[in-house]
Amino acid sequence: MHRHPPRNLGVNRLRLLVVAAHQDDGELGCGGFLLQAANYRAQTTVCVLADGCAGGNVCLREQEAREAAVALGADLIQAGLPDTRIPLRPAIKIVEKVIAEVEPHVVLVHAPADTHQDHRVTARAVMSAARDVPNILFYEGPSSRNFVPVTYVDIDAVIERKVDLIRLHRSQISRRPFDAWARTTALYRGMHARPACQFAEAFHPARQFLVPAGLSLAGSLDSAQSKALASWGASRPGGNGRPIISCASVLDQGTTPK
Ligand SMILES: [Zn+2]
Repeated sequence: MHRHPPRNLGVNRLRLLVVAAHQDDGELGCGGFLLQAANYRAQTTVCVLADGCAGGNVCLREQEAREAAVALGADLIQAGLPDTRIPLRPAIKIVEKVIAEVEPHVVLVHAPADTHQDHRVTARAVMSAARDVPNILFYEGPSSRNFVPVTYVDIDAVIERKVDLIRLHRSQISRRPFDAWARTTALYRGMHARPACQFAEAFHPARQFLVPAGLSLAGSLDSAQSKALASWGASRPGGNGRPIISCASVLDQGTTPK
């Protein structure tokens, strides 16, 4: 397991952990959310479990993941487990170790209903390893099945950057048009999220803590960041201060209730 770049966690920043089976999965599922969160100084760590050998050259895929992490301003951990054969217990141990180090407020992972065995195992591993994390959100991907979202993130401001992010995974774009998938899925989900936005990412929470407005994020963020988060989405045209999602409402979940 190797990390790029070195750990650099701020004490007053919202911490997000994305766990993905393969190098491009996290960007496909929640790249827009991560780009939005970066605008609000969130600290993101992406943990990729498999080495990616079944989908192309391992060195190239690792390089593509590093380029995407730089674009996201995220830390990247590539665990190097065998592609298409991610073992459950080692995956749990790796994610437990990452969670202990990162102490995320929100973990994002594949939805468990998926035709790819690695995606299913990754979701199961996170459900065990993230037992003490207050917020777990499932993201969707091209191989998700029966995904019924209830939580939306407005990604209008970053849709082009999300597509560019997907295109950094050159080895995968040459196999299938994942960039087109990202755009059309965001448009499709944006229709569900109307009238808040045109493009959206959609999530299904496995666990989500709601806290009273004004008390949220106490102890985890400074007041300027809390204010910025509170205004995120509320300022969207048509949102009338009541955005359907809003990164604010996802991020505004507070820290672990003890
Ligand atoms: Zn995958």
